[in-house]
Amino acid sequence: MRSVTAYATPAAKEPFAKTTIERRDLGPNDVLIKVAFAGICHSDIHTAREEWGTAHFPLVPGHEIAGTVEEVGSAVGKYSVGDRVGVGCMVDSCRECENCLAGEEQYCLKGNTGTYNSIGKDGRPTDGGYSSHIVVDQDFVLAIPEGVALDVAAPLLCAGITLYSPLKHWGAGPGKNVAIVGLGGLGHMGVKIAHALGAEVTVLSQTLSKKDDGLKLGADHFYATGDQQTFKDLAGTFDLIINTVSAPLPMGDYLSLLRLDGTIVSVGAPGEPMEVPVFSLLSQRRSWAGSGIGGIRQTQEMLDFCAEHHLGAEIEVISGDQIDEAYDRVVGSDVRYRFVIDTASF
Ligand code: NAP
Ligand code: ZN
Repeated sequence: MRSVTAYATPAAKEPFAKTTIERRDLGPNDVLIKVAFAGICHSDIHTAREEWGTAHFPLVPGHEIAGTVEEVGSAVGKYSVGDRVGVGCMVDSCRECENCLAGEEQYCLKGNTGTYNSIGKDGRPTDGGYSSHIVVDQDFVLAIPEGVALDVAAPLLCAGITLYSPLKHWGAGPGKNVAIVGLGGLGHMGVKIAHALGAEVTVLSQTLSKKDDGLKLGADHFYATGDQQTFKDLAGTFDLIINTVSAPLPMGDYLSLLRLDGTIVSVGAPGEPMEVPVFSLLSQRRSWAGSGIGGIRQTQEMLDFCAEHHLGAEIEVISGDQIDEAYDRVVGSDVRYRFVIDTASF
């Protein structure tokens, strides 16, 4: 075991404080990563505030990790000391079920091992990236391509892949009319990636306050969902809508925006159920689907795509003692567009 510095919260809704945690000794396939930056995902907040159920405390969240390799285990062949690497939402899976074998480890039939708030193979709760170092099996470590700086790369490991995966799965590209609901951490990466894929992109945000930003990020159109006229004007418009909102939405209103055979994909994950008016689905053979992060292979594909298209997150870098304030700002939709913790501040 080695002691490393981390920021942890001792109980639900309690402030974060600097502490020391233990990382396991390197097994043959393990990589010791010196974390440079860790993004703050709204999932960290849902977990730390127990909006998704009971969590393990003290909790060290963080699943948008970018850093450099500091040490490798005896059998590690994929990475060398000094390599620029990332870790996303999972650090292991069963590797044997049909989904793992298909490269969809996030849908492991035995449940993947989350980067934090999960139980690792050693039987201990996992601790995430709000930490100076992390030890991860090489098969769950990603290579960050040259040309993408570590700070703007960190949010790609969750926000980036969570949007890239459904955009690819549902065929976002030239001739497709795509809407992104919610311009936060996930949403702003959705705009960038959907635009780079060649789709016509619309942002649906609560107000027009982020309109200039949305258009600069690559959106072609921007509408306020606080204005009911938007739903009348855009009825039957979209092939694909990705809903990134962290709270329940009136699904009937959003389904009405889909054209024949259109799909709305929930990636936003509120703790409460959402109702669906069935007539909104059947009237235009519409679908309501969900999508969770992406597999390791596709996460690497996304990182390489972002490098090729010069994409990174729009970030505000913070120190460890600003985590609580950042959480409140994310919940208040006041993030432009991802907070990233600089571990040099620890
Ligand atoms: P975020 O930065 O807070 O962005 C969410 C955005 O949704 C806000 O910026 C806001 O955008 C909009 N919004 C917030 N509350 C709203 C409300 N009551 N009504 C309408 N719009 C609202 O959060 P995030 O980090 O992008 O994460 C978003 C959600 O995705 C969270 O629930 C998170 O847990 C989930 N998530 C899921 C996956 C997955 O694998 N499926 C992965 C990561 C995160 P506007 O100001 O533009 O309206
Ligand atoms: Zn996340």
